[in-house]
Amino acid sequence: MNVIRKACSPKNFMPGRPGGLRPAAIVIHISEGTLGSADACFNNQAAKVSAHYCVGRAGEIHQYVSEEDTAYHAGSPVNPTWRLLRAGVNPNFYTIGIEHEGRAQDQWADEQYAASAELIVEIAQRWSIPVDADHIVMHREIRCSKTCPGYVFSRERLLSLVLAAEAICPR
Ligand SMILES: [Zn+2]
Repeated sequence: MNVIRKACSPKNFMPGRPGGLRPAAIVIHISEGTLGSADACFNNQAAKVSAHYCVGRAGEIHQYVSEEDTAYHAGSPVNPTWRLLRAGVNPNFYTIGIEHEGRAQDQWADEQYAASAELIVEIAQRWSIPVDADHIVMHREIRCSKTCPGYVFSRERLLSLVLAAEAICPR
């Protein structure tokens, strides 16, 4: 897997994770823009947002924030439906955020599903995160004031790709 490291403004993430928290889930986002616009946004200190990764439509993977550090991607919970949300704890502290190039109404490219699945396999193995709908979370399940990652995206398809890849390279 070819991960390209990109700059992230130090104003847009926090080194480390408070209270010894570690990544326990992965949050799926749609970037509502191009890979290039994500690169520019996360390195703009006025943005005050970031993600650990953005996966391009051609399967490119850009990394902005180390997994050990806290990216600002999930925001504060609004009417959350996520079963494993921890009350009173900022969800950014215990999640890894993956943006995906494109608009919510666009069908994801096959290459994008494949690269995202490959990335999730690696993250899940690194942090012992189970691969299921409780741990591969859609942003709107935390912040229901947003539709992110949109209703075209299929978590079932992404999960099946992750599970298929894990079967080839078991933990
Ligand atoms: Zn989002």
